[in-house]
Amino acid sequence: MNIPSLPPAALEKIRSSKNITAITGAGISQESGIPTFRGAGGFWKNYKAEELATPEAFSKNPNLVWEWYDWRRDLCLKAEPNPGHLTLAKWESHATSFHLITQNVDGLHVRAGSKQLKQIHGNIFTTRCTKCEDLRPIETSGRDSFCRKCDSPLRPHILWFGEMYDTTLLQSCYEIASRSEVILIIGTSANVSVPASMAEEAIRRGALSIEINPETTSLSGSVDYCLQGKSGEILPKFFYDIYESK
Ligand code: NAD
Ligand code: ZN
Repeated sequence: MNIPSLPPAALEKIRSSKNITAITGAGISQESGIPTFRGAGGFWKNYKAEELATPEAFSKNPNLVWEWYDWRRDLCLKAEPNPGHLTLAKWESHATSFHLITQNVDGLHVRAGSKQLKQIHGNIFTTRCTKCEDLRPIETSGRDSFCRKCDSPLRPHILWFGEMYDTTLLQSCYEIASRSEVILIIGTSANVSVPASMAEEAIRRGALSIEINPETTSLSGSVDYCLQGKSGEILPKFFYDIYESK
């Protein structure tokens, strides 16, 4: 199989860049068996994600929403990081400064070893108190339903459709994007406007931009290069071409 790569001059530019940023979406975890929202398998019991991942759905039927998250969390726990996640973790130790901004909540980047990581949509293994906002990891032995501090109901620590981003987190992501010399946009449909605008900010500031996705997206026309294919296959080869082939 022919895995796409970049011309030597672009590889050299990446090799000598000090600030590299990757933005990932659900597509990078697809090869680990975690369905994307918009692809096949994005349904659960005939519900679309957009019908369950909302504050309205949670106030109407918290048990149903929790049941869906318990099922998804179990899926994430059984999944393993794939070569795409592992390559990004390895990249961090090669570049002077490498940041990873992810829309994923599945914890696979953490398990792969990425440290400079911003999980802008939260994490499926964390609960948040609906009143005092206390955050707590979910133990493998089981999940609490009520806050240990104030006894109020707990919710998943996930940014649901229609909710506001954490402004401090957002600001630091835009700062990272704006000083990037290279921006990698991996496995995201770019349908969620905030992460797409982070990529656009880096492009506007002149970063070398590379999209890795089997499909074209609304960002494809704006980037310098589109590497079409699966990130678990492209990223290890890409990394080899940049750092290990000479
Ligand atoms: P999306 O479902 O809208 O799009 C996924 C993208 O990945 C598509 O463009 C698709 O072509 C691409 N893709 C599919 N297989 C791929 C592969 N093997 N390699 C590379 N790319 C591949 O996902 P999104 O843009 O992340 O937005 C959906 C929202 O849903 C996000 O905000 C995210 O928080 C959430 N979500 C998270 C997970 C997760 O944590 N794993 C899973 C589903 C959805
Ligand atoms: Zn509380």
